[in-house]
Amino acid sequence: MSAGGRRVGWLGGSFDPVHAGHLCMARAALEQLDLDAVLLVPAAIPPHKRDRQLASGADRLALLALACADEERLLASDVELRRDGISYSYDTACALREELGPGAALFFVIGADTLAELPSWYRIEELGRLVTFCPVTRAGTSLDTGHLRPLLGDEGAAAVARHCLHIEPHPASSTVVRAQLRAGEAPEHLPPGVAEEIRRRGLYRNGGGGATSSDGSG
Ligand code: ATP
Ligand code: MG
Repeated sequence: MSAGGRRVGWLGGSFDPVHAGHLCMARAALEQLDLDAVLLVPAAIPPHKRDRQLASGADRLALLALACADEERLLASDVELRRDGISYSYDTACALREELGPGAALFFVIGADTLAELPSWYRIEELGRLVTFCPVTRAGTSLDTGHLRPLLGDEGAAAVARHCLHIEPHPASSTVVRAQLRAGEAPEHLPPGVAEEIRRRGLYRNGGGGATSSDGSG
């Protein structure tokens, strides 16, 4: 990706596996923020899920690419999988800023549950200067941004509040999908073709490729 002046969204996560809620958020960001594209970026090692075994990066990326295949402006990105070590969003923001050039605007789309966790993120104040956080409605979590004031300042927190993306809450969760697959049940809320591909790759059976916790990333 090259041209300056572009408005680019970025949806980070473990995508273990991608589900329809992720696509719903990305589409909401495209439309409500008038973006040129949204990058969906699976973490190699999510900072807050270091103790959990995920499906391989190659498998998670392949499922994501399949889910985005028919969506011209949704792009699966391997920018974090190419990097060694823990996948800090701050490092990714620096890499993306470099790649996109100084004129581009970077919108970091996060679920409301992740919004609550931002204060624990690596170099969050600097990250907040590199991106605009855009929190999306998630069932059971608030879109309040008051906790960001000490980190981003009144203006910064107000900017996040202005960029909230209000959607009909989407019930999908990777934790639930993994549990359903482990129990031998039909997984809910997967994009077309993803359940078949999970089966073909033999993922999420008997605890392999992702265990139990459900926290966010950094
Ligand atoms: P897990 O249960 O394994 O944590 P997840 O469903 O939360 O998986 P992640 O890969 O952790 O999916 O999420 C990536 C990003 O998408 C995070 O910012 C998360 O808050 C957001 N997100 C995921 N699912 C939804 C949803 N249904 N509604 C709103 N935001 C969501
Ligand atoms: Mg999560």
